[in-house]
Amino acid sequence: MSQQVTALPTTESLRERALGSLTRLGVTFEEGDGLRARTPITGEDLLGLSAATPADADRAITAAHEAFLSWRTVPAPHRGELVRRLGELLREHKSELAELITIEVGKIRSEALGEVQEMIDICEFAVGLSRQLYGRTIASERPGHRLTETWHPLGVVGVISAFNFPAAVWAWNTAVALVCGDTVVWKPSELTPLTSLACDRLLAMAADEVAVSRDVHRLVLGDRALGEQLVDDRRIALVSATGSVRMGREVGPRVAARFGRSLLELGGNNATIVAPSADLDLAMAGIVFAAAGTAGQRCTSLRRLIAHTDIADTLVDRLTTAYRRLPIGDPFQEGTLVGPLISGQAHDAMQAALTAAQAEGGEILTGGRRQLADSAVNAFYVEPAIVRVTEQTDIVRQETFAPILYVQTYRTLEEAIALHNDVPQGLSSSIFTRDQQEAERFLAADGSDCGIANVNIGTSGAEIGGAFGGEKETGGGRESGSDSWRAYMRAATNTINYSGRLALAQNVNFL
Ligand code: NAD
Repeated sequence: MSQQVTALPTTESLRERALGSLTRLGVTFEEGDGLRARTPITGEDLLGLSAATPADADRAITAAHEAFLSWRTVPAPHRGELVRRLGELLREHKSELAELITIEVGKIRSEALGEVQEMIDICEFAVGLSRQLYGRTIASERPGHRLTETWHPLGVVGVISAFNFPAAVWAWNTAVALVCGDTVVWKPSELTPLTSLACDRLLAMAADEVAVSRDVHRLVLGDRALGEQLVDDRRIALVSATGSVRMGREVGPRVAARFGRSLLELGGNNATIVAPSADLDLAMAGIVFAAAGTAGQRCTSLRRLIAHTDIADTLVDRLTTAYRRLPIGDPFQEGTLVGPLISGQAHDAMQAALTAAQAEGGEILTGGRRQLADSAVNAFYVEPAIVRVTEQTDIVRQETFAPILYVQTYRTLEEAIALHNDVPQGLSSSIFTRDQQEAERFLAADGSDCGIANVNIGTSGAEIGGAFGGEKETGGGRESGSDSWRAYMRAATNTINYSGRLALAQNVNFL
């Protein structure tokens, strides 16, 4: 069965679409040669932009820091008004923003729209949160005393984000940081400047409408050197950095060296266990979306399938057939399910991983070939690959940011969980089973060691209501829902004495 491949649009038509969206959003920008806006759909440049200089970044941090000094005293429910308006503007401009995401990242239309929906959802969550930044009241051991915990704004948050969620990761951080009373300086991926300009513009519009200083949020466009500047600047109280483990390894110690705070959201190497009792139709749908969707370029993409020996052959046959039917090509085209890889480098990394997997004893069952190279020499479309391995070798234990699914088998659940956890990363995980004992075992303290553990659903596509993040080399950060907001605030413990006499704790006598 041959792969379905859809034809590509021209770079000129994509440039017009991008400029059309930017114009409708009211984005203005300085053309220049500091940064190239590019589309992976054709692999060609769209336009040149000027990048921020170190002096520009310094001014942005100064402005955000000054804005913080007054923003922190605005009552949180009023701060929520800004985020409420941002959410409304995102609803109004959902289509234009999604268009830019598809053009710059190559996500298919429904995934790009989903990314903007996630931004709207987090804004609504943050507005609710603006009335729920609760501290605890603690029983005091002393008569006539009250002990409470108060949460205060932290300062300027430096947001450094990755290319693959060019807008949602910003929104997760910014919506929550703003209601918490922080201000933000954002250094997005150098690969997605247009989407970043659009997000910044929407927030500026919201700020103007609710009469808040635009300096509560400052965008700085540039490469990693600008990120390093944020990392090293003492005025940045929290560095929230999303990207590769390599980046986190550099950022974490540098922020720690100045006693700053960091929130790291790094790479994953996510696995799904498929038990003999699993509903295979359900498992199939969950696996194909998680492994091949977004061309394998989600931090939560499924990279390892651990299938019970009783069902492994059937499951792999069905998956191989489904993979060969996946339509690849123009992400704007209705029906396309697999868009391009972000770059030639990503393609090289995929090919190198496939070669290494074979050298380590793996067998490529399907995929891995490049498509559409004749019509777009600089664009990198690939057939998602399935590789059967007999062991969890070095290459399987690494994150390759491309659609490769390694399949291994197991006999006992203990063995499956041990394989599952035996990788350096700890982001997302899942099990397909109809056996409740197995499901609970997977979710227990000695089950999955990941920040996200699911049952009868794939590893990708989290909702904003839960905390998002992972363990081990994934960095340990938590963003988005639940009580992740605490990372964006500082807690003060307050003891209030209304007894009229000084009673020391632990019955200490003095004077
Ligand atoms: P990347 O690490 O190359 O870049 C991410 C960002 O960090 C960019 O803005 C880049 O300019 C900046 N940067 C790089 N080195 C830096 C340094 N030393 N100091 C300061 N800033 C620096 O990542 P990428 O290729 O854009 O994204 C893909 C990676 O991101 C994958 O590993 C993926 O798993 C991960 N990711 C993780 C999450 C998560 O929430 N855990 C979400 C999305 C992506």
